[in-house]
Amino acid sequence: MVKKKKPQIYIIDVTNRDGVQTSRIGLAKLEKTIINLYLNDMGIFQSEFGFPFTKHETNYLNANLKLQATGKELGSIRLEGWCRAMTKDIDLAFKMVPKIKHLNLSVSTSDIMLKGKFGDKKSKDDIINMMTEAVDAAYKKGAKSIGVNAEDASRSDMDYLIKFAKAAKEHGATRIRYCDTLGAEDPMNIYKRLNQLAQETEIAWELHCHNDLGMGVACSVAGAKGVIDAGQDAYINTTINGVGERAGNADLLSVLLALKYSSGFKNENLFPKGINLKKAWTFAQYASYAFDIPIPLNQVGIGSNAFAHESGIHADGALKNRRNYELYDYEELGLGETKVVETGRMITVGEYSGIKGFRNVYGKLAIEFKDDNEAAKILELARYANVHTQKSLTENELYFVARYPEIARLIMTVTP
Ligand SMILES: [Zn+2]
Repeated sequence: MVKKKKPQIYIIDVTNRDGVQTSRIGLAKLEKTIINLYLNDMGIFQSEFGFPFTKHETNYLNANLKLQATGKELGSIRLEGWCRAMTKDIDLAFKMVPKIKHLNLSVSTSDIMLKGKFGDKKSKDDIINMMTEAVDAAYKKGAKSIGVNAEDASRSDMDYLIKFAKAAKEHGATRIRYCDTLGAEDPMNIYKRLNQLAQETEIAWELHCHNDLGMGVACSVAGAKGVIDAGQDAYINTTINGVGERAGNADLLSVLLALKYSSGFKNENLFPKGINLKKAWTFAQYASYAFDIPIPLNQVGIGSNAFAHESGIHADGALKNRRNYELYDYEELGLGETKVVETGRMITVGEYSGIKGFRNVYGKLAIEFKDDNEAAKILELARYANVHTQKSLTENELYFVARYPEIARLIMTVTP
């Protein structure tokens, strides 16, 4: 008899899809690339890295796949694209990003959205047919894994969700995404629903929770537990610093810390395999800079008050034994190292900087160029990178441009 493997939790980060589609915030394609690099460094299972049917994304998407294929970067993270569950999106996606292997296909499943979006033009069975045709088309074009997203699942009828998921599974879908699109769920309810869904459909489920009621993280972990208790793998969708539509998505670090340290999870051994939190702080700082969204003082794990104590009893207690007032160690999140802040003269670089200025900055990063010719080429490209991000380049962006100039060139190329 084959012993069934213990179900596990995986993280699918959706910063580069849900995060960037948020009102008034966005990322340059180079910044999206750096986010993918960080996610891979942290050992995240999958990055929903963009929209393969959207023209201005395709150079960035192709370049990231190309970078991964070199074997030098983006090790084993799955780079997955988001499409509507329509064959025309699939056709376009594979035409523009031919090497894409992982997709999530999305369609609404709630009565309110189906009525609001399709009127009387499509029955609920038509929606299922449209979705399964899209799944078939994607596999035919070479997809290796497909998640099917039930948009507004939390306001969808359970019987319909079960029928929808079973149809997707019959056509080879790898898992179903339960989208709490409006953030209307609560932990107790989502546990029950996901437990029933996973039991009746016998397929893995993804939790995609928004934070409109302040419970995005709580619902994600509770829903995942419901799936695990039904014997299936669970996938949690996160974003860095919780950025996302309206009140945001489930924050990546908060979800990971909850899986590792919350009372109900800490002895369950459900913390995703291979995750390293050492870069949590630098990643959050980078994302904050790239999105231009400050990190709140009380942000979980990495806010500047996350390990601060002032009142007499707390300070005394924390100094005597950190476990008196700290649930986990800041060192684990990459905090506690001394940061050097330069004062005095500073040469910054921008799109109008001269070659000498860039050379000075690269020199400080100990990046050497083969010859003047190579230097001129990289420095010119760094200027373009600045035009592209419209912010002073960070050290990792400067490194990236110097290390992978051809990939960087492709990432930054957008031809209207
Ligand atoms: Zn969303």
